[in-house]
Amino acid sequence: MTLWLLGTHLDRTADYLAEHDRVLLVEATAFADRRPYHPHKLTLVFAAMRQFRDDLRERGLTVDYRQAETFAEGLDAHFDDHPEDDLTIPRPAAHGAEDRLRGLVDARGGSLSFVANPTFLLTPDEFDEWADGRTTNDPDTYRLEGFYRHLRRETGVLMDGDEPVGGEWNYDEENRETPPDDWEPPEPPLFEPDETTREVGSWVDAEFETFVDGDTEAAPFRWPVTREESLSALETFVDARFAEFGRYQDAMVAGEWAMSHSLLSASINLGLLRPMEVVERAEQAYEDGDAPINSVEGFVRQLLGWREFMRHVYRRSMPEMAEANQLDQREELPPAYWTGETDMTCLSEAVNHVRERGYAHHIERLMVLSNFALVYGADPGALNEWFHQGFVDAFHWVTTPNVVGMGSFATDALSSKPYASSGSYVNRMSDYCKSCPYAVSRDTGEGACPFNSLYWTFLRDNEETLRGTGRMGLMYSHVDDKDDEEWEALEARAETVREKARNGTL
Ligand code: FAD
Repeated sequence: MTLWLLGTHLDRTADYLAEHDRVLLVEATAFADRRPYHPHKLTLVFAAMRQFRDDLRERGLTVDYRQAETFAEGLDAHFDDHPEDDLTIPRPAAHGAEDRLRGLVDARGGSLSFVANPTFLLTPDEFDEWADGRTTNDPDTYRLEGFYRHLRRETGVLMDGDEPVGGEWNYDEENRETPPDDWEPPEPPLFEPDETTREVGSWVDAEFETFVDGDTEAAPFRWPVTREESLSALETFVDARFAEFGRYQDAMVAGEWAMSHSLLSASINLGLLRPMEVVERAEQAYEDGDAPINSVEGFVRQLLGWREFMRHVYRRSMPEMAEANQLDQREELPPAYWTGETDMTCLSEAVNHVRERGYAHHIERLMVLSNFALVYGADPGALNEWFHQGFVDAFHWVTTPNVVGMGSFATDALSSKPYASSGSYVNRMSDYCKSCPYAVSRDTGEGACPFNSLYWTFLRDNEETLRGTGRMGLMYSHVDDKDDEEWEALEARAETVREKARNGTL
């Protein structure tokens, strides 16, 4: 009996490891040929797989590590050596993967069974038990908030009997500060690549077409590739940055790519850290007095709430979610998303963070990269594809609900209103506008912030869908206040902005 693990199943603490004769890992290069991924994403996944192989072997496990072009080829080699083998695999998160993998194994005369995937807290049945019968029509039912409270109660995390620790379920109000001018967050850890990882990095640079050129355009590779490094990243975060995570959770500062974020998503998505052990470490930090409740609750909400909710809403909404486009947005993404070349400070900062490290923090993803694409009218599928290629932590199960659902409002499965805003949001939450040649205070005319005219024309163009949706009343009262002359100037400015964005001169 063989345990087949994918590159997102690198959990050496899982019980099922001891229950099988051997572990099979297939390093399939076709995955990397399919899209021009960020070189750090490819290095991370392949290096983490090889490190995991070595780690398991050192612990006395038998590991068959197959290097092949495709899973099919890897399985051919496996079944040549072990005819009619019974394989077990943790349930993969990508839509359709279970059927695909089972088909590959069946075709080679083997059998494939699935076990719970430890990179998520809830099994599909457990989530469905909560979700069945709930709908998005009622905000208190099939929405994050209700699910999150349910899970807090079920797990007892940050609970004091039946009540939330600290008395509130949500500290968002305390999590919207921007840091003072002289704020300097501690440097996040840089995990120096060892020989195995360096070898993978050189191979990736030589072998694959990538999102940026890893030799010249990306910063040095820095991501944790082993469980030890991931645990160390967790400890460094708790020690040095967690206390300020909450208050600056939504802030952006020029030159600060990491802010006080944990940078743990890739380790968690690959299985190097379990979500619950990270949540428990966060709770411990609160109990030890190392982080305030607004930081701890804000972090737990992301990991226990959003991550889990996204995974299961995706599962239940596919395949429709990937194709959704309720606002019928069709524009191609502007070339600046690949080059980073734009005078808009916010967009240039966020895109270049992605180009350099395959990472931008949550508020740059949502309120700069997605927000701009949304008000510009970009195709949600194209944006999803871009996120999937550019980020080290990107997988279809997580980009699709975040990008198509949350960022593009292509479906209302995840929020009742779009995360769309003018330049004023970026101005309030960052220092980007200070150094930007565009004037955030102006909506129209040469030099006006591109976000502004795009935002107002976006609201007007999508009025039929948006006017009646949750909490949009105030915005539409501003739309109603504008006269024909203002609309004419906004239209003209938006058209110029679109033209400049399309030809790469914004
Ligand atoms: P922190 O800010 O420190 O948050 C803690 C943890 O919470 C993260 O490590 C992550 O595991 C989890 N988390 C927080 N928000 C979410 C969420 N909305 N969905 C899932 N997990 C969440 N996350 C990915 O893991 N991969 C992606 O490809 C991805 N793409 C995104 C695209 C868009 C448009 C948006 C709006 C969000 C996306 N997210 C994605 C969610 C979130 O932005 C990242 O998880 C987070 O920025 C990762 O950085 P961090 O580890 O420093 O997170």
